[in-house]
Amino acid sequence: MSLDILTNEEALRLQELIDASEKIVICCHKSPDGDAIGSMLGLAEFLRNQGKSPMLVAPDAFPDFLKWLPCIERIVRYDKHKETVDEAFDKAELIFCLDFNNSGRLMDLQQTFDNAKGKRILIDHHVNPDVESEIVVSRPEMSSTCELLFRIIHQLGGFDAMTRQGAVPLYCGMMTDTGGFTYNSSRSEIFYIISLLLTKRFDKDKIYRNVYNNYSEWCIRMRGYVMSQKLNVLPDSHASYFTITRKEMKRFHFIKGDAEGLVNEPLRIKGMRLVISLREDTERDNTIWVSLRTVDHYYCNKIAEKFFNGGGHPNAAGGHLHCTIEEAEQIALKAILYFSSQYSNGGQ
Ligand code: 5GP
Ligand code: MN
Repeated sequence: MSLDILTNEEALRLQELIDASEKIVICCHKSPDGDAIGSMLGLAEFLRNQGKSPMLVAPDAFPDFLKWLPCIERIVRYDKHKETVDEAFDKAELIFCLDFNNSGRLMDLQQTFDNAKGKRILIDHHVNPDVESEIVVSRPEMSSTCELLFRIIHQLGGFDAMTRQGAVPLYCGMMTDTGGFTYNSSRSEIFYIISLLLTKRFDKDKIYRNVYNNYSEWCIRMRGYVMSQKLNVLPDSHASYFTITRKEMKRFHFIKGDAEGLVNEPLRIKGMRLVISLREDTERDNTIWVSLRTVDHYYCNKIAEKFFNGGGHPNAAGGHLHCTIEEAEQIALKAILYFSSQYSNGGQ
């Protein structure tokens, strides 16, 4: 089974660019998830194996449940170390852009990124890539950026030198972007890649537990509270939504990542097609973070674009609003009406 995804020219060009560059930056999107962090760490090991010392940059904090990943302490946060990051981007000859399709996903880091003169390589699995780059590897049909990264490393001959340290983050990103291999994960190549990764000897079951069974008591109580008290179900529309306010987050000692994946929970209701989560920002007034999930051929990325200033994948999308949580609820209700009208004729 061939895992190659680059044309021969692209593979040669990519290796040439790596060889020719000393100052390399790897960056990912705001609120990085397992795929964003995993792909940065996996790529970093590949580059280190070639004698490079890339700088890894995340726009802001990553969730607690990823803190066990090997070498994660090497990632520099822009919100904490602006000057260091500004300087690195300014001097970078090569910039890897992982798991995002446009620089708007970088939030506060966007300006620094847009001003940087280094050559860019985009490796991503979101639709409509919009970053001017030397090489664009955009494959929306892939499970994750980590899957893409593995295939690229493999194609460039880096698999033998890959150690457990590089394999674990790539596996972790593939796992988190597929909900523990429960969606976007039916292509046989995925399991072929996993079988190759496992030759690097790690305990994949422990990775699952590290990510999914690692909640604090407060977190599990908050999640229970939101599902029991805050979930609004609209059975006729096969949709539901919930809100989480800052006051509630305080009450449950909320930390980054505590609401991660909660939007998937109502999808377990029989017949549910769309779930929308609305969460107030932990600091900023009138900023609401939105997550959307759907199943099968019911798509939510267009709804994220149309109603929530966002986008994403067909079954998993997100965005944000600048309004109160009450206003956000009204917008969510409109989005749900639009969603059910879209699928009321023949789309059942
Ligand atoms: P989550 O609900 O986990 O925050 O986001 C789900 C998916 O939606 C992400 O993997 C990402 O692809 C996409 N997404 C989230 N927020 C945005 C956004 O503001 N803009 C775009 N284009 N995509 C987003
Ligand atoms: Mn991803």
